[in-house]
Amino acid sequence: MGEDVAILGLGTMGSGMAANLLKAGFSLTVYNRTAAKAQALIDAGARFASTPAEAVEGASVILSMLADDTASREVWLGKDGALKAAKKGAILIESSTVSPAWVAELAAAAERHGADLLDAPVTGSRMQAEAGQLSFLAGGKDTVLEAATPVLKAMSKEITHLGPVGSGAKMKLINNFLCGVQVASLAEGLVWIERSGLDRDKALSVLKGGAPGSPLLSAISARMVNQAYSVNFVLKLMTKDLLYAHNEAAQCDVDLKTAEVARSLFEVAIAQGFGEEDMASVIEPLRKK
Ligand code: NAP
Repeated sequence: MGEDVAILGLGTMGSGMAANLLKAGFSLTVYNRTAAKAQALIDAGARFASTPAEAVEGASVILSMLADDTASREVWLGKDGALKAAKKGAILIESSTVSPAWVAELAAAAERHGADLLDAPVTGSRMQAEAGQLSFLAGGKDTVLEAATPVLKAMSKEITHLGPVGSGAKMKLINNFLCGVQVASLAEGLVWIERSGLDRDKALSVLKGGAPGSPLLSAISARMVNQAYSVNFVLKLMTKDLLYAHNEAAQCDVDLKTAEVARSLFEVAIAQGFGEEDMASVIEPLRKK
């Protein structure tokens, strides 16, 4: 068995990441608020802990993959939270997409406790998490990242060190700002195509092969066309990313107007019941209009 690792959060991303840690031979303890989501991992050899504090006992590396700032705060610092129970010298890795302000607060709390924090959010979605092909965007000390690298490598194809703690979170929000705006503009563009009399497949193939083409445009347009909204990236989390991006850019005196407009489309989709569907369903309210 390899070193003791704990993973906190077994949603769409965390469950795939945990499975790859097990495959790589780490001795893994898992925690999730909804315990039932841990069953497949328990069957594959993980230990289940009923609280974050219990999960991290003895772990040298503790990784969290949670929805947002609120979830992360709850799991690290809440009742039976992970930080108080983490052993001195443990490496804490916050991989959720959270705000840099929260990362700074958590890093300071970790330092007071005698542990080091890396922020290492990811790009890639459910399939990349399952395949161990994520890309980590890391912030933190060189030495800490080096020590965490075997664990991160088991889940990824690439690790980019962007600077001090908080750098990964900043980069991730810039990345998802561009993604969120592209998904919202694709929704509008596709509804326009559908009402224009153009052949939809031909029009999409022009876009995919041309300057606007991107892996995101290809993947999301296919889901929009097929109305296939089983979750790869749950819609409500994109509104969170666009809000955090807007607030973070404001710290640099940049007004992300397009993020706000894109977010308004996602908010309408939430109001119409698509919050728990894949983010591609942002097109549905536009189709109904
Ligand atoms: P998800 O499937 O919605 O999972 C969210 C996780 O957070 C679950 O474990 C959930 O527990 C937990 N959680 C939520 N609120 C909580 C609270 N108040 N207290 C304790 N636990 C709480 O999300 P995901 O897709 O795995 O994404 C996880 C993170 O990665 C997010 O920050 C997301 O933005 C980011 N991300 C996602 C993707 C993607 O394509 N899906 C890609 C890159 C980054 P329960 O199971 O009990 O609800």
